[in-house]
Amino acid sequence: MFAVECENIRFRYQKEWILEDLSFKGAEGEFFGIIGPNGSGKTTLLKIVDGILNPERGSVCIGKTDIREMKRNDFAKIVAMVPQDSPMIFPFTVHEVVLMGRAPHLGRLMFERKSDFAVSQKAMELTDTLSLAERNINELSGGERQRVLIARALAQEPGVILLDESTAHLDIKHQVAFFDLIRALNRKEGLTVIAVTHDINLAALFCDRIMMLKEGCIHSIGTPDEVITESNIKEVYETDVLVDCNSQTGLPRVTLLSSNLSDQGSRSNAGAAPQL
Ligand code: ADP
Repeated sequence: MFAVECENIRFRYQKEWILEDLSFKGAEGEFFGIIGPNGSGKTTLLKIVDGILNPERGSVCIGKTDIREMKRNDFAKIVAMVPQDSPMIFPFTVHEVVLMGRAPHLGRLMFERKSDFAVSQKAMELTDTLSLAERNINELSGGERQRVLIARALAQEPGVILLDESTAHLDIKHQVAFFDLIRALNRKEGLTVIAVTHDINLAALFCDRIMMLKEGCIHSIGTPDEVITESNIKEVYETDVLVDCNSQTGLPRVTLLSSNLSDQGSRSNAGAAPQL
């Protein structure tokens, strides 16, 4: 099991600081969520944890090792990233893309072994992509493609998985199935999960702790109950919402309010207001 620790991260693309002196720790086997409005630095932070971007100051450790001291191949044996999207230039089949997840485990010039095919097959089963195995990755819908990227990450058999809005293109069946699957791996096998999501209710449902970012700084960090409050959401998203307790889960639940719907309270027959 691996913890993910960022210390005093400072980062900018150009002149303006995007992340300022940001520190947090996702504990070993923790399901850690990162939320915040568009442009608050979530994806940038995840790319820094993934070693794709280098911070100007600060460090990222996986386990006890600074990622700057790790060979890329060793890093990839531990950490898998599911990006928002990953354009593929070549017309690989789904099976080939998922098999790419095994690459860190193969020696140089080594062909995939029977066990690599078995792991890929299992990853496709778990993500409901087996039926797509022979399809061209570039000819899939956004949701199907996303499931393939998830399968590729699972085929890596990581100890840490980084999720960047990984369910954004998925329908609700596959959203819940995916989060259930990640949670099962998290609980049974100690997979550490760092998940960026814009879906606050999903974050409340699955995350042990949540970090809310505002303009590149940590606004709040803690359990869903501590972070998902009406006042925090108002301060960070500049939006009025209703936060109540979901009676089935006991977790906070966010409902959007629209200032244009002045008759919202009296529309009880029309059903509940939409939730985030
Ligand atoms: P989030 O994931 O919270 O929406 P991002 O990390 O994608 O936020 O972006 C944070 C800020 O960095 C935004 O202002 C965005 O415009 C800027 N940014 C992101 N990528 C780049 C880039 N490649 N070059 C310059 N600015 C960027």
